[in-house]
Amino acid sequence: MEIIKTDVLVIGGGGAGMRAALAAKEIGAEVLLVSKTPIGKSTCTYLSAGAFTLATDGFSKETHLQLTLQAGKGINVRDLAEILVNETPERVRELELSGLVGEWQKGRFRCLGKPTAAGAPLANILAEAVRKQGVSSMPWVIVSELVTESGKVAGALGFDFRKGKTIAFLSKAVILANGGGGSLYARHDNPVRATGDGYALAFHAGCSLRDMEFVQFIPVGLAEPNKPAYLISPPLADMGRVINSSGEDILEKYRITEKPVAVRSRDSFSLAIFREEMGGQEVFIDLRSLSERDWLQDSLARAQREMLMKHFSGSVKPLRISPMCHFFMGGVSINQNGGTGIAGLYAAGETAGGLHGANRLGGNALGEIMVFGYRAGKAAGAWAIEQDMLKGSQDLLKVRLDSFRKKLVTRTAGLAPRLIRKKIGETLWRDGGILREKSGLSSAMEALKRIQQEDLPRARIESPKEILEKMEVENALLAGEMIVRSALVREESRGAHFRRDFPKTDDEYWKVNIFLKKTGEAMDIELRPLPTRG
Ligand SMILES: Cc1cc2nc3c(=O)[nH]c(=O)nc-3n(C[C@H](O)[C@H](O)[C@H](O)COP(=O)(O)OP(=O)(O)OC[C@H]3O[C@@H](n4cnc5c(N)ncnc54)[C@H](O)[C@@H]3O)c2cc1C
Repeated sequence: MEIIKTDVLVIGGGGAGMRAALAAKEIGAEVLLVSKTPIGKSTCTYLSAGAFTLATDGFSKETHLQLTLQAGKGINVRDLAEILVNETPERVRELELSGLVGEWQKGRFRCLGKPTAAGAPLANILAEAVRKQGVSSMPWVIVSELVTESGKVAGALGFDFRKGKTIAFLSKAVILANGGGGSLYARHDNPVRATGDGYALAFHAGCSLRDMEFVQFIPVGLAEPNKPAYLISPPLADMGRVINSSGEDILEKYRITEKPVAVRSRDSFSLAIFREEMGGQEVFIDLRSLSERDWLQDSLARAQREMLMKHFSGSVKPLRISPMCHFFMGGVSINQNGGTGIAGLYAAGETAGGLHGANRLGGNALGEIMVFGYRAGKAAGAWAIEQDMLKGSQDLLKVRLDSFRKKLVTRTAGLAPRLIRKKIGETLWRDGGILREKSGLSSAMEALKRIQQEDLPRARIESPKEILEKMEVENALLAGEMIVRSALVREESRGAHFRRDFPKTDDEYWKVNIFLKKTGEAMDIELRPLPTRG
């Protein structure tokens, strides 16, 4: 039986996990970074457009805060937003000092990676620092259970899906940096392993989750037939013309004026395209009239120019676009240092919720992973250094590992887990995505329940990879349920949550956050008013 001991266990090899691991290591804790993917790679951080929104060059902290709260439609955790605004510049300057090359513009820093993975230089620099600082790491491991004892975290259980081996981790602190769940939806721009595992781990451990109804869709996803879905540089939406099959200008038709539209109006712009599609229209972006100056304005647009104009034939025809699931605003409820309410358990990055409220301002997620990854790492490291390993933890871990192993049965017949995931993706896309209403959400709940009761027990599990995929399906079902339940409860429209049956924003009743928590085997829902600031 393999039990690995460490002070701080970090789950997730994206930006939040790597920054947290470095911060915990810097203050002297022993750190182990565990990830389903190679450290830094195949993460949202790696695939990102590499853009940070931050106070610089005449764009003030006050403006950044105001835009963040405006995008969040008044239900962000203001304290977290203030920290983000105050600390992002410092975290980005540190990255530059470590060698990250980027371009500064008013209110923006963008690292200069190549298209399809513009965030690669950022991920690579952090991964290099992780190696150099002596943080231990284990890729190809899914952490599938947290172990707690008397309200404190004691470790976790994982499965190495390359070796087909179970592992127990004994640790004084754990940081959830699992990223989000964008790939739960049929159409998305996330890496395939972004299956909402952090939400499921936190829920089962007894944490509160918040704002799970708010899922962001990015409007500018290429949707050319037989070509990969691909995020085009957001500022191109303002430079080109967005039209439907009948030639109508979409931004004019839906009166979308807050610019850059694909940064500040992701919710209304995605909804507009989705509505056009429901009405039988296709939507295109026409880039043919862009001037040389337009292309030079934005580094990512510049980098994508040849691909869009030549390989996708954008120089001779408008290119089809359609929204893609992009980001989860909701997640584990945290304090300013990533604390979750369970002693020793922290969360950071897309796994955490509250900062963005009902919608995220473009460029705020990379700031979030750096600022709150750093804070969570520091807090977890300090906590772990002060603690002794919990008495009896090792025995508890052995017992839990034993029952975990018993659950890992193989099954040669049945439905492949990836096909079950496809069903979940289609259900969420159709009824739990951009345009919602009671009847669709209720049928999504039923469909998820059916998948849980009928498909999951009959899943085929022939290989270690399918064990991983089945675990991901379980997490996907739970995260899907969190989204759909919260969306059913919120009988209004706000930010990224649009209800066809309640199209108005209702500040009088609904300026609240929805919290979820496990009670017994049930999912408890609580509406909480915004805290008053003292
Ligand atoms: C195409 C795209 C472009 C984007 N562009 C921008 C941008 O320009 N600016 C911006 O601010 N934001 C952008 N975002 C959002 C931003 O990239 C992400 O929100 C952010 O990178 C998330 O970082 P993270 O560390 O929380 O998660 P990730 O970087 O996704 O890392 C999650 C890690 O957790 C691991 N993991 C998950 N579950 C488990 C488990 N159970 N066990 C072990 N390991 C696990 C994964 O393997 C992965 O290593 C973009 C997102 C996408 C998809």
